[in-house]
Amino acid sequence: MSDDGNSRQVSDFGPPVMGEPYLLTPGPLTTAASVKREMLKDWGSWDRDFRAMTAEMRKHLVGLVADGSADFDCVPIQGSGTFVVEAMLGSFLPRDSKTLVLVNGAYGQRIVQTLQYLERSHVVIDKGDYLPPRGPEVTEALTADPSISHVVVVHCETSSGILNPIREISDAVHAAGRKLLIDSMSAFGALPLNASEMKYEAIVSSANKCIEGVPGFGFIIARTDVLAAAKGNSHSLSLDAHAQWVNMNKTGQWRFTPPTHAVAAFMEALRLHKAEGGVAGRGVRYQKNRDTLVAGMRDLGFETLLKDRWLSPIIVTFFNPAHPSFEFGRFYDLMKHKGFIIYPGKLTVVDSFRVGCIGRMDDAVMSQVVKAAGQSLAEMGVETAAPPESALIERAKLAA
Ligand SMILES: *Cc1c(COP(=O)(O)O)cnc(C)c1O
Repeated sequence: MSDDGNSRQVSDFGPPVMGEPYLLTPGPLTTAASVKREMLKDWGSWDRDFRAMTAEMRKHLVGLVADGSADFDCVPIQGSGTFVVEAMLGSFLPRDSKTLVLVNGAYGQRIVQTLQYLERSHVVIDKGDYLPPRGPEVTEALTADPSISHVVVVHCETSSGILNPIREISDAVHAAGRKLLIDSMSAFGALPLNASEMKYEAIVSSANKCIEGVPGFGFIIARTDVLAAAKGNSHSLSLDAHAQWVNMNKTGQWRFTPPTHAVAAFMEALRLHKAEGGVAGRGVRYQKNRDTLVAGMRDLGFETLLKDRWLSPIIVTFFNPAHPSFEFGRFYDLMKHKGFIIYPGKLTVVDSFRVGCIGRMDDAVMSQVVKAAGQSLAEMGVETAAPPESALIERAKLAA
């Protein structure tokens, strides 16, 4: 497999470049050497070859949620994931709409903030850091306020790693006759979102999450009738999903300079995704990554923020150990020195850190992560990674 001259590539999931650490982060993440290599060529954005690539990419992405269905189409948008979330909200929420936003972390809060910028009417159910929004409370909110037209939810809330019960929420929204938009940024490609099993208007994700491409663009996958109806809604020229869609269908081109190298890399990432068994295959690898990580870290005394039921195979939050010699900055540096970049926590109440399970790595790599964590604790003089009692009390209280 390894023909890039990097001698340390022990397996398919070995460090792709000598001395480069693994990114245990929710994107940008560790990518395959072959994905990076695709970026060595320059592409003309107008050229037929690049247009064909864009068309193939859109078709492939639709196929991941709606096999062979003409009812859905894909609209790629330049920028990071947030740009694409904003494009979806601005394009599909009419100016007289009213939206229920389901919040349980930073990305849900960002959706609320976006709606404030867009001046779209909205109400919020905020579950804090620990708990998923549930079907019955969505039903209750929609019944109580018939003027709510749309619901927006985050699929995997990457701030805590909680996997929201997307199917249950979709059923509740559909039963109430409202429309659902999903931020599936960190879940798409590894967790099922099959349009034949679940109703939604649109989902968004980006190149540098579970498909394992590099950053530069995101994409909306939406019902064709929803795209057609979105004309004139958007507040923004560059983030107008309808205009991008119409132009792309007419000319095969992106309206403004496309991230050509990132798209080329993404095509190779899609090829690897398919070779691994698509969404199901990728999901299995990430689950193994998570299971190896969580079991190993628990052996060291670490505790997860979430109960097993809500642990996603995307990213896991651990409480900081209570031991007085533990200091996150030092732990981070020791882990980095061993080849692993971890991620600080994003919780409001307790100190925590996160470890991503996504990217080009397997459970053998995750075993090394656990080993490195154990060694790092020993170097700090931390005998056990058990969290403070207060964190566990807080968790029990909020998750009751
Ligand atoms: C990564 C991510 C985003 C987008 O973040 P960017 O930094 O703009 O790429 C949005 N929502 C979720 C759930 C994410 O994980």
